[in-house]
Amino acid sequence: MSKAVISLKLVEIDPNLKFEIANTELGGKAFWCIQCGMCTSGCPVAEFLKPHRIVKMVMLGLKDQLINCKEIWLCTTCFTCSERCPQEVDPANIIFSLKNIAAKQGIIPEGLRSIGKNLAETGRVIKISTYRERERKKLGLPKTPQVHVEKNREILEETSFIKALERVRQ
Ligand code: SF4
Ligand code: SF4
Repeated sequence: MSKAVISLKLVEIDPNLKFEIANTELGGKAFWCIQCGMCTSGCPVAEFLKPHRIVKMVMLGLKDQLINCKEIWLCTTCFTCSERCPQEVDPANIIFSLKNIAAKQGIIPEGLRSIGKNLAETGRVIKISTYRERERKKLGLPKTPQVHVEKNREILEETSFIKALERVRQ
């Protein structure tokens, strides 16, 4: 008789994750989730990101998987999931909390990192090129208004934004 082979994959569990999330201002009602799926049924990016699954994974303590997955960064912050939740769970803000945890560990996707770098260096999320200024002039538009780069940088320093960018894992 042939033997059945079952391969088990060990997954690291962080039993404190649900408390870590629930203790934040953003994730307070995470424990109230009943896995009804109402959140996911209205999510515009549900093909890639399923908020009910994210909440479940938080409850299971799958921290490493959550903070290392690309999907949490695909959330459009539309808050449809939070509005639809019959339990007031607020999955959108739970996803925010996860992104904060990831960022504190230096896990920030490349695209967002470059937007953050632009913001720190120029005060804008995109750099204004000379081409863009020329095109504005042709269209009779005024020059792009000046930004207070130093003031902006002070705010970014104060809110630890710069530190988070510097912490990015290589
Ligand atoms: S709608 Fe609310 S209660 Fe239902 S699965 Fe989503 S988070 Fe949980
Ligand atoms: S806030 Fe994010 S997770 Fe919630 S419905 Fe919108 S895109 Fe989906």
